[in-house]
Amino acid sequence: MIPASLYLHIPFCRIKCSYCAFNTYINLDNLIEPFVKALIREIQIVGESQPEQLLHTIYIGGGTPSLLSVEQISQILSAINRYFRLTADAEISMESNPADLTPEYVKLVRSLGVNRLSIGMQSANEAELELFARRHDLQAVIRAVDAARRGGFDNLNLDLIYGIPNQTLANWEKSLEVLLNLEPEHVSLYALGLEDGTSLKNWVDNGKVPSPDDDLAADMYDMATDMLGSAGLDQYEISNWAKAGLECRHNLQYWRNLPYPGVGPGAHGYANGVRYSTILSPHRYIKAMTESKQTFDFPRTPATDQATVVDRDNEIAETLIMGLRLTQEGIDRVTFKRRFGEDLLDIHPDVIQRYRSHGLLYVDDQVVKITQQGRLLSNMIFRDLV
Ligand code: SF4
Repeated sequence: MIPASLYLHIPFCRIKCSYCAFNTYINLDNLIEPFVKALIREIQIVGESQPEQLLHTIYIGGGTPSLLSVEQISQILSAINRYFRLTADAEISMESNPADLTPEYVKLVRSLGVNRLSIGMQSANEAELELFARRHDLQAVIRAVDAARRGGFDNLNLDLIYGIPNQTLANWEKSLEVLLNLEPEHVSLYALGLEDGTSLKNWVDNGKVPSPDDDLAADMYDMATDMLGSAGLDQYEISNWAKAGLECRHNLQYWRNLPYPGVGPGAHGYANGVRYSTILSPHRYIKAMTESKQTFDFPRTPATDQATVVDRDNEIAETLIMGLRLTQEGIDRVTFKRRFGEDLLDIHPDVIQRYRSHGLLYVDDQVVKITQQGRLLSNMIFRDLV
């Protein structure tokens, strides 16, 4: 059985950031306790319906998982250990807001077995953090990284956002410099997207804030690629860089299109050939997990909202799109053939040949992968491959 990755969605935040369209809620702290109970019930159902399932990564995301107490995180991890088998070297990641990371909290979370901490830095520029309505400043990020190091974390991820209204190349360079001085093992960079329903999109639509500049964002991406590469961080995915051997194994599971059950409100999952999502509302999630006595086939639970059986054509398309995001690894042709019974080049001979001849795809006997030039046109390549 292929080792799986477990995603847990913690849908609570203290403040809604201006750009955020994630499934997360503020002012629902009174639901955290019943939510943890419901989540443990869902972990139990998923684990018991697939008793031999081995997990090699766990990702506690959100939302803001660092709003949970140490005791609540301990209860959740104990439940996972009770209902799943974990590999000895399982990667256990947790997302966090720098404002929550006191030395005591970080040390205790590390002692529970969390061995990879993702800290939402987003920017080193105070005006940009204010525009985002982040509840931390740069000093809080610096203190959080220091606390994490002292607390025993040797695998830290820092996130930054680029393409921000009013952001200059000089501001971006400064954010990257500050980030590199913090010496993270892993970096994720996100181009700012204006999502419907967010404050930031409303401000842009109403002319209160200028639109992000796509050309400038492309220059920022190039600058980041140079600076991170020079600092010894290897790009292994379109938006992710890591020191050698410290690529995020959980996210690699997504990009290799391998199974990842998802639990918690609004979680997405893919397991047993089914792609699915859970109920968005924490209220309804808790009710479903507390009241339902029905039994469900793995990976479904009482919290499952949408579920689609992925047919072979879609599985191939998803494997291609996600695999091509892996800039170094690409798609291994032997693994692909073992999985689908056909060589990738026989499935899409014309498209692959066309992009190869334009220098946008690299092809040899082992792999098909996107080139540096192809990264800028990746969406067009993905479209043609499906
Ligand atoms: S902390 Fe993260 S999940 Fe919460 S509102 Fe901000 S961006 Fe969204």
